Amino acid sequence: MAAWKIHGQEHLTQTLDRGIRQGQLAHAYLLVGPPHIGKDTLALQLAQAVNCVGEDPPCGQCLQCRRIERGIHPDIQRIVPTPDEKTGRMHTEIRIDQVRAIERAIALQPYEGRYRVFIFEGAERLSPDAANALLKTLEEPPAHVLLLLTAAEEEALLPTIRSRCQRLELRPLPEDRLVTMLAEEHGVSPEDARLLARISGGNVGWAVSAVANPRLLDERQRRLETLLSVVDGGMERRFQYAQELAQQFGRDRNTVREEMGFWLLWWRDLLVLMQQAPELVVNVDWRQTLEDRARRFHAGEVARVVRELVATLERLEQNAISRMALDVLMLTLPAPKPVPARQEMA
Ligand SMILES: [Zn+2]
Repeated sequence: MAAWKIHGQEHLTQTLDRGIRQGQLAHAYLLVGPPHIGKDTLALQLAQAVNCVGEDPPCGQCLQCRRIERGIHPDIQRIVPTPDEKTGRMHTEIRIDQVRAIERAIALQPYEGRYRVFIFEGAERLSPDAANALLKTLEEPPAHVLLLLTAAEEEALLPTIRSRCQRLELRPLPEDRLVTMLAEEHGVSPEDARLLARISGGNVGWAVSAVANPRLLDERQRRLETLLSVVDGGMERRFQYAQELAQQFGRDRNTVREEMGFWLLWWRDLLVLMQQAPELVVNVDWRQTLEDRARRFHAGEVARVVRELVATLERLEQNAISRMALDVLMLTLPAPKPVPARQEMA
């Protein structure tokens, strides 16, 4: 059995297995799906599969597989933004000189494997120049070369890049499968597994790294506390937050996207509670606060915030968010009605 160590992507691994057996792989693949779903993991395993010398690749056991997993295989190269040579500051883009270096490396025969594999992680970060340079390489790479691009924001890629790659779309794992997997393979308690499965939205990578790294859950906690301080705060707090977000967006749009994702889930939770569907609540550990706030808003107000958040997320996809759009979002937030004294929550 091929040992693909990735869950819920059988629709892709079966196709890839067949392609490898019949020697009919594409020369370039674009792996798409939401952040943390396992795109980079699948890319690395595909690099193993094409170089594996085991019976049923990727075997995970042979020297090739093991060296690739450890990141010390000379024929596998990951391309990500690097620090500036002079200032040491991280670039936010994959630059044209990186693509030029690949153009030269591509002509060389593999050192020890069958394929030279180049993995562009977060290909939406290619600068316009770099993307144009890559187009030529994508057109007709040598037979011993496999180009893999991963992207959460597929729309941000040049259509000409997308059309030169075969598309592999990773899907979230159904909640029950993720709960079972976390319990059986990672020893997570059923209660924690359910929480992680819910808040990860079926993103295996996020859920598994949250098990290994409690910082991710702390980070979520911090974000939800910030959210609550903005929801409960006055206009001044709200506009201050809009300003912080707009500044953050200039530095790192993914973080802002994730933050807005948390906002959408939280307001959606309020709405499902108001619609008497508590089993659909995602932030199950925030249930008491959510129930309290659900009593203090009108359903119409909450529905309007959800609509506005969806529109904001769409603008974020198009990279068109502005301070003004965030101010408008903040103006949409209703003020919570005061709680009668006897209902005060602990
Ligand atoms: Zn192997």
